Amino acid sequence: MGVCLRWRGLGLPLPGFRRCELHTVHEASVPTPPHWLAERLGLFEELWTAQVKRLASMTQKKPRAIKISLPEGQKVDAVAWNTTPYQLAQQISSTLADSAVAAEVNGELYDLERPLETDCHVRFLTFDSPEGKSVLWHSSAHVLGAAAEQQMGAVLCRGPSTESGFYHDFFLGKERTVRSSELPLLERICQEIIAAAQPFRRLEVSRDQLRQLFKDNHFKLHVIEEKVTGPTATVYGCGMSVDLCRGPHLRHTGQIGALKLLTNSSALWRSSAAPETLQRVSGISFPNTELLRDWEAQREEAELRDHRRIGKEQELFFFHELSPGSCFFLPRGTRVYNALVTFIRAEYAQRGFSEVKTPTLFSTKLWEQSGHWEHYRADMFSLKPPGTNGPDISQSGHPARCPKDALALKPMNCPAHCLMFAHRPRSWRELPVRLADFGVLHRAEASGSLGGLTRLWRFQQDDAHIFCAPNQVIFLVLQRADFLCLFKFNTGS
Ligand SMILES: [Zn+2]
Repeated sequence: MGVCLRWRGLGLPLPGFRRCELHTVHEASVPTPPHWLAERLGLFEELWTAQVKRLASMTQKKPRAIKISLPEGQKVDAVAWNTTPYQLAQQISSTLADSAVAAEVNGELYDLERPLETDCHVRFLTFDSPEGKSVLWHSSAHVLGAAAEQQMGAVLCRGPSTESGFYHDFFLGKERTVRSSELPLLERICQEIIAAAQPFRRLEVSRDQLRQLFKDNHFKLHVIEEKVTGPTATVYGCGMSVDLCRGPHLRHTGQIGALKLLTNSSALWRSSAAPETLQRVSGISFPNTELLRDWEAQREEAELRDHRRIGKEQELFFFHELSPGSCFFLPRGTRVYNALVTFIRAEYAQRGFSEVKTPTLFSTKLWEQSGHWEHYRADMFSLKPPGTNGPDISQSGHPARCPKDALALKPMNCPAHCLMFAHRPRSWRELPVRLADFGVLHRAEASGSLGGLTRLWRFQQDDAHIFCAPNQVIFLVLQRADFLCLFKFNTGS
């Protein structure tokens, strides 16, 4: 099955392919691409041709000379709207031109093929830098998105880079999910797109054109309405795919030397009243296969030390589908857990902290006041208390047995500690007040992002807050840093 066959299925010419050698599978096995793919691409090509003409006429009519400063202090002459960072990299060395993934121009990240507009300082980014990794991984997410569109008719939602690779979230309909057995096929299509070295083409379009391009994708329409604040935004065309994105990206998909898809899970799109379930596929990529081999070897070693494996083998803890995102600590695991708590509790005592216990359920009024409700509401578990229609009943020490407003499980301890500090007048002589809490917290993480003991729905942390006078801040921060170092040293974390 090949990229070229899919292109023929759309009845379109092959744009910008440098090589295409993958024609080994029967045409009958190529799925028919969704109709909107061809319509969107047709409009993109139209707008792209107009942009190319516009740029050509700008530079031909009135070429404007600009000065470029390069990292070594070198100054070179260039032409505005014509010279690209890639051309400058070629002037420096062919190695740099091959290994650069993007450029930083006056502090802004640029595609290597994006023409420079004014006098500027140019720095080149390679995969060795965090920004360079992000560009390669984010470009890889586009490749994965394109493969999902072509093979599954996926409606793309978001495809960011992460600290350790990339993922793409997409919608396949309410019933359809991605199965693990489908990852090899998706990966093979990604390899085809990579082998075709499809260029990433940056196009600036108006809001109306954006709405037209993405009229079949309600996720993108939502992003356009919410996030696009200026009169124009950029979209990138790459092979058959067109996506709303600020960039930057690689020059072409062939710069991805090796790509591997790793996991499939579900994710939630929460921007509408009714959340929608998306499919998330994640992966990793490198500029060459040697780096992928090294990564695989390190991963195998890390798997041997994986706490999930050790937890199972040593009967420390387990998880159960009937309580998702929550850990069952077995007797041995509980002994380890309690040893850690004892260690931290002793340190708290030595450092002037007082341990407190605070409630788990709070009125949403508290979260509104703290700002969590506005920004974090979708990630909190909330509930209506039973008997909310009845009258408030005052009992000894309890303001109301049946509050009428909704309640939410606390995702953090800070507002509880603020209530505790403020429940009576305080004297400056009491400061600093140091409160520590091992309270149970709940966060509604997307089920696809849950992982072992590092990402949970229910967890506890060695959480503490200090209330102090301004002149005590520096000393207390240094004291906390010392505590952190001690903990890291003792636990090897
Ligand atoms: Zn992008």
